Amino acid sequence: CGIVGVVGSRNATDILIQGLQKLEYRGYDSSGIFVTDEKNRESLVKAVGRISALQEKIGIEVNGSIGIGHTRWATHGKPTENNAHPHTSESGRFVLVHNGVIENYKELKTEYLANDHFIGETDTEIAVHLIGKFAEEGNLSTKEAFQKALSVIEGSFAFAMIDKNDATTLYVAKNKSPLLIGLGDRFNLVGSDAMAMIRETKEFMEIQDNEMVIVKKDSVEIFNQTGEKMERAPYTAELDL
Ligand code: GLU
Repeated sequence: CGIVGVVGSRNATDILIQGLQKLEYRGYDSSGIFVTDEKNRESLVKAVGRISALQEKIGIEVNGSIGIGHTRWATHGKPTENNAHPHTSESGRFVLVHNGVIENYKELKTEYLANDHFIGETDTEIAVHLIGKFAEEGNLSTKEAFQKALSVIEGSFAFAMIDKNDATTLYVAKNKSPLLIGLGDRFNLVGSDAMAMIRETKEFMEIQDNEMVIVKKDSVEIFNQTGEKMERAPYTAELDL
């Protein structure tokens, strides 16, 4: 299972597909991508099986300036297209990929999402509905809603999320699942490992458990659990390719 994301590129789809192929070794049963741009030209494509099956469905016309991609290793719900990530919130505004297991997803569903409609059976869909609920009914900013969801979610996760109302920002967080930032020149990336991003950059930045990161094409802001802004030095990877 793996995650890749990009913001500020002219070729988000290609970067995501390349990254997902590099993450195939981690195991997967299905995959999917979401890409969009400032004009809200968006595509959500999912496929069961190999990344090449996803690639065939995408076609050349799908592109964007921001996107997230996912290879799934099913833990909650069968490996079907409906259960494949990215998942969307009830209103469709938030789009999320997730690696890991949300242990209290049933409790969260009962407490907050009794009237929501779900397309699949994953724990992940609960998380993105929760963020949508906090943002839209709690009248919070996306950052605040994401932070609030992180404070009630228990379990392991690497998350990358897009708010369709602001196609310039990736919302990222991790706990016990791998995720790091890749730094480009007027674009930035997120990925489960460096290899998923190495074609685009050799500069990386680590994320600690329970931090939240706001990634734009020319900035990366890291916040700890109490909302304090953290300083983090980037490093250059020396990888033999
Ligand atoms: N628990 C999530 C699911 O079953 C994520 C699995 C993964 O890490 O790929 O969809």
